Order: sequence, then C-alpha cells, then structure tokens
Amino acid sequence: MKNLELVLRKNKYQATTELTIKDVHFGRGFTVIAGPCSVESQDQIRQTAAAVKAAGAQVLRGGVYKPRTSPYAFQGLGKEGLQYLQAAGDEFAMPIITEVVDTRDVEWIVECADILQVGARNMQNFSLLVEIGKTKKPVLLKRAMNATIAEWLNAAEYILKAGNPNVILCERGIRTHENYTRNTLDISAVAVAKQLTHLPVLVDPSHAGGRAELIEPLALSAIMAGADGLMIEVHPEPSQALSDAQQQLNLEQFAELMQKIEKTSDFYRSQLSQ
Ligand code: PEP
Ligand code: MN
Repeated sequence: MKNLELVLRKNKYQATTELTIKDVHFGRGFTVIAGPCSVESQDQIRQTAAAVKAAGAQVLRGGVYKPRTSPYAFQGLGKEGLQYLQAAGDEFAMPIITEVVDTRDVEWIVECADILQVGARNMQNFSLLVEIGKTKKPVLLKRAMNATIAEWLNAAEYILKAGNPNVILCERGIRTHENYTRNTLDISAVAVAKQLTHLPVLVDPSHAGGRAELIEPLALSAIMAGADGLMIEVHPEPSQALSDAQQQLNLEQFAELMQKIEKTSDFYRSQLSQ
C-alpha cells in the first residue's frame, strides 16, 4: 500500500504502538470498552458504569451526539450527556470515550473526553480528521461501512500526518449483500490491519452483527483474529434503549461475556508465547 508511511509497520518485527490513557493500556494485553449506545440519563450511565467496571471493562463509552439515519430519531443529549458521562467516569475511575460528529465540537470535547471516537459515517470527513489530528487526544477511528482497508488506513494516516500519533483502529462491520446481520464483521480486515499497521486494532461486535445474540461469537472470534480489544454496547434495559435496542447486552449478560473474553484472551496469548 502506498503513501501510508506513518501508519504501516516498518517491518514485521515492529511492535504494536502502545497507548496509555490514565491507567488503561491499548496495544498491551486486551482492552474492553463498554457502555450504552447513547447516554440517556444520569442514572442510566451511572448504573451501567458501575456494572461494566465491576465486570472488568476498562473504558466507559456513551454517545451524546448520535449520527442517526432518521432526523426524527433520538439525537443524543449533547453537552448535558457528556457531563453525565464524565461524572460516571470520574466516580468509577474509568476513562471515557464519546463520538465527535462536528468539527466545531472538537475543541471543547477534547477538554472533557479521554478518547474521541470518529464514527463510521465520518471516517472520510477529512476536515474532522485533520482537526482531531491537531490535538494529541487519543482517537478511536471506526471503519466506514463502505470503506476498503486501504481507505480506512488512509483516514488514520490523515490523523497521524496532522500531528496526532494516538490512533486506535476499530472494525465495526461492513455492508454486504447479507441483511440478516446489520453489517458483516470483516474478520479478515482485523488480521490485515494487524499485519500491516502498528496501531492497536479493536472490534465492535455490537454494530457488526446488530443483534445481541451475536455479540459473544463475534467478540470471541475477534480475539482469535488478533484484535487488541473490543467495544461492546451495554444497557441496563436494552429493550427500552433510545438507540440500538437490538444490539445491546444487559448488565448480567455483559458480566458473563467478560468471563469468556478473559479466558479466551488468556488462551490466545498463551498460544502466542509458545
Ligand atoms: C457508535 O459506536 O455509537 C456508532 C454510531 O457506531 P458506528 O459509527 O460504527 O456506526
Ligand atoms: Mn450504537
């Protein structure tokens, strides 16, 4: 691949770049981000934070600006939502991640969030990438549903070239002819991204499958494909969620899954060291 000098591994021995955010590491061990699709109330995010922290998640997620297909759908709580997310992150000592959809919001969200998320729909919003690149804030760059691997890596290159080396990639499923699942998890892309780049690579099994019952098999497959971590949507009452109700685990389901994630990740890492 051409013109990707900042993103590509110089050779196959170059280690994965490690990012440390507060006490949480990406690219070392296995890292789990969890939380609701959207922050809906102070109580909802606080309850979720307490449960996902107890289950072993390291980073708390929550959308406050939601890129929704319909303009009539819940658009997120905005600034108020970010205050709730921040309070929950502080209380349970978890770094927080939230999506930035508008270039004009970068300056103030950088002050509140520990990680900025670039969503699939904004992966090629080049002015947003450059604006985020001017900060040193860690950024989770999701792959667009229609992007090739090369396009995804070029988007990462934009951020690095603008001066921000702290990029984490996230595969979240691509659009194919298959419509039973919301998207098709491109497990090959995880292996390819790991081989080609030195950036940590995460997988989001929630948006990939679009169904709660697929989160476990997709999450465990991602570990075996070499992912550095996962981002999973968790809600105290998924059926009542204001966005993505079909693809969120409840608190108990998440705790059970975390045990399997830990065992699978330990197994995978034990195979690597043999
Ligand atoms: C999200 O993670 O909240 C989200 C909107 O995901 P994506 O951009 O992958 O659709
Ligand atoms: Mn969602």
